[in-house]
Amino acid sequence: MLGASLGRGGKPLRIAYGRIFHEACAASPLLTTRDAFVQQHHVAGEELARAASLRGEELASFFPHAELTGFLQAARAAGGVEAVPLSSALAVPGGPLTRECFEWLLDDLVARVRDAGRLDGVYLALHGSMEVSELGESPEAVILRRVREAAPGAKIAASFDLHGNLSAGIVEPLDVLVSYRTNPHWDLAPTGFRAGNRLIRSLRGQCRPVSAWRKLPVVVGGGMNVDFLEPMRGVYKLMSKLERDPRVLTTSFFVVHPFTSADDLGWSVHVTTDGDADLAERLADQLADRAWTARRAPLPELLDIDRALDEVRRSPWRKLGPITLVDVDDIVGAGAPGGNTRIVEALVADDRGLSLLVPVHDPAAVARAFETPLGATLELSLRGTPGYEQPEVPLVATVAARADDPRWGRRARLTAGRTEIAVTERPPLPIHPGFWRELGIDPRRADAMVQKNFFHYRLFHLATSFRHLPVVTDGATNLRRAASAPRRVPSYPSADPVDWRDGDRQFRAARAG
Ligand SMILES: [Zn+2]
Repeated sequence: MLGASLGRGGKPLRIAYGRIFHEACAASPLLTTRDAFVQQHHVAGEELARAASLRGEELASFFPHAELTGFLQAARAAGGVEAVPLSSALAVPGGPLTRECFEWLLDDLVARVRDAGRLDGVYLALHGSMEVSELGESPEAVILRRVREAAPGAKIAASFDLHGNLSAGIVEPLDVLVSYRTNPHWDLAPTGFRAGNRLIRSLRGQCRPVSAWRKLPVVVGGGMNVDFLEPMRGVYKLMSKLERDPRVLTTSFFVVHPFTSADDLGWSVHVTTDGDADLAERLADQLADRAWTARRAPLPELLDIDRALDEVRRSPWRKLGPITLVDVDDIVGAGAPGGNTRIVEALVADDRGLSLLVPVHDPAAVARAFETPLGATLELSLRGTPGYEQPEVPLVATVAARADDPRWGRRARLTAGRTEIAVTERPPLPIHPGFWRELGIDPRRADAMVQKNFFHYRLFHLATSFRHLPVVTDGATNLRRAASAPRRVPSYPSADPVDWRDGDRQFRAARAG
């Protein structure tokens, strides 16, 4: 009985685990460097093992338990598994990684795989929409190739964000592939558990994963793909139904992150069965058919800045709490730099008597604010993120408050009339009201506040903000630009193919390069 739970030759299975995780926004001028990972999350060895334990904090202040904790729980539940920590690196979404940064991360991971000795398996938590400056291929495909070379004979499992972009280079080297199935994402730990469970069972000969995948010519993303709302809900319901069949080991559905410069972007589905290749092919077709019907997700009405400000002025909701202006073109949570100056520009031209809270990434303005005495008046040009080509906005403002936080860097509040501008040294994510409170402002008193993310802020503003207006500002996460970007395979919505099958054939004919 005990022997059955062990690996080859009655020894415990040795499975290494690690992570390289980043989501890229190609239109951001801020390349992602080593510092971004060092500041956010980069742990290895025993420190990683502690962080990914149930008592640890795997991704400090984001997710106490993420994929690697889930994987360790699967190993623990299975018994007879020696889990070997590699390294784990994650940075907030941003511009593509520099080559130097990518090689540093990858060399470290691969060296640890080599040093781990005999391995039966490797599990990696990846994103699927990374991008590396001038790499010319999917970084995740490179990671998997290098890890395979470093651990010949080991089975490899990987999990992905559902915003990943599948390609042959990602799918083919993998024995087990799983993805998140919630958006916004909260199922990181269950995803890691599923990957670990399938990997361990296949190493013990308790199942034999065989997979099929399809890639659809659809590039619809950016906040429309909430798993529990239509049109996505029906696709996830079908996946749950398919997985009730014991022959089905796992199913995945990927809705892409539309802001990378990959020319092969597209939705995809992936099905793994227990040794039944025909069934995997059939169910992949069925799931692709269902996903295809969900492509025409209605876009929320997007307002230009002046229309949004007029709407705020008219709306009675602002008496109850600040109206949220969601800056959909400058979503820091999707990798934009957060330095668009156009909303401030519109308020300087006509503030409509409104009190507005606006965060702007502008390191030069922060430096000026820290050189100026508190309460003094400052004349400056607000320029936003360097290289972001934003309008320069001349301002006369009072330096009202300053804060310095090791995670978010320095920021200052500049008061110009009724407008409060938080200039920040790093891309701003003022999700929590504490962002403004630390700068001496109670956001509940404002008429409106600008957010740089799609969803998460709502959790902290359930009782304060009751109206949410999406505003377009021509920034790095502009959906119209992403939708009309040149694609190798004509894709919805810039094209309107009648069926997904032609696109799928073209996508999958391109082998891993
Ligand atoms: Zn995602």
